[in-house]
Amino acid sequence: MTDKYAVIGNPISHSKSPFIHKMFAQQTGQDISYEAIESPLEGFAETIARLRAEGYKGCNVTVPFKFEAYQLATQRSGRANDANAVNTLIFEGDQILGDNTDGVGLLADIEKNIQYPLFLKDALILGAGGAAAGVMWPLFNAGVGIIVANRTLEKAQTLADAFEGAGTVFAKRYEDLAGRRFDIVINATSSGLSDELPPLPDGLFKPGALAYDMMYGKDTPFLKFARAQGAAVIADGLGMLVEQAATSFALWRKVRPDTQPVLDALHKL
Ligand code: NDP
Repeated sequence: MTDKYAVIGNPISHSKSPFIHKMFAQQTGQDISYEAIESPLEGFAETIARLRAEGYKGCNVTVPFKFEAYQLATQRSGRANDANAVNTLIFEGDQILGDNTDGVGLLADIEKNIQYPLFLKDALILGAGGAAAGVMWPLFNAGVGIIVANRTLEKAQTLADAFEGAGTVFAKRYEDLAGRRFDIVINATSSGLSDELPPLPDGLFKPGALAYDMMYGKDTPFLKFARAQGAAVIADGLGMLVEQAATSFALWRKVRPDTQPVLDALHKL
């Protein structure tokens, strides 16, 4: 029997996850279906309850429900607890297992696909939502120094405070970034969805710097800014999307798909 999976978000129509998981399923011979489902903003728990009642085996969770997914999970991985956010749910009997594969996805994309070494680099993370939360500990553990900047400073401060005792992560307002330079600048805001750019000062990029926008599928104001400011390496979040999906797929199906053919196919779309 075909096992059912889905990605839940709002908005969700732009999602490439169904394409990716269908290719993974073909490649590994897994009998699954995977669809994109838009949940009402105030109805995430009800959407998950419906999926479980209809026999779905699990789902991915995206903007803006990753914190709610964390709350809903009855058992959580260490990665999920580090992030306080969940992007992968597994429905097992009366349990809802929660994991966060965003961090491993980003690291795999930067280190394996882009081949940009992370050790002892200085990174600026823009945004303090679920995506930023998911990648901070994996980056920190890879030896990256982190400043997190957000429109709402309190949210960035909460993320930074979680590192107390392990190391120093600084939280800043955008206006406090003037005069600082970074090896890596990651846009983990959803500003690209509305064609906006956080108010960034000039001169953020060190020579050889990587500019990474987690958003994919369009030339965002952040990517245009990075190009104009001379960032040496520029990437969107497509590789991260495929890599985090591969880890979710492996959790659900116990078989790890090859990401390269899927990335190649997406680049040709
Ligand atoms: P959340 O809704 O949890 O957080 C959104 C963040 O963006 C907040 O920090 C918010 O700031 C900030 N923000 C929104 N609009 C603006 C703006 N106009 N200017 C400045 N800051 C803004 O979303 P997620 O963290 O889950 O996702 C963020 C982005 O990352 C999305 O575009 C998503 O598609 C992408 N993503 C990509 C992945 C991939 O695999 N490639 C994986 C995960 C996410 P404030 O707190 O002040 O409201």
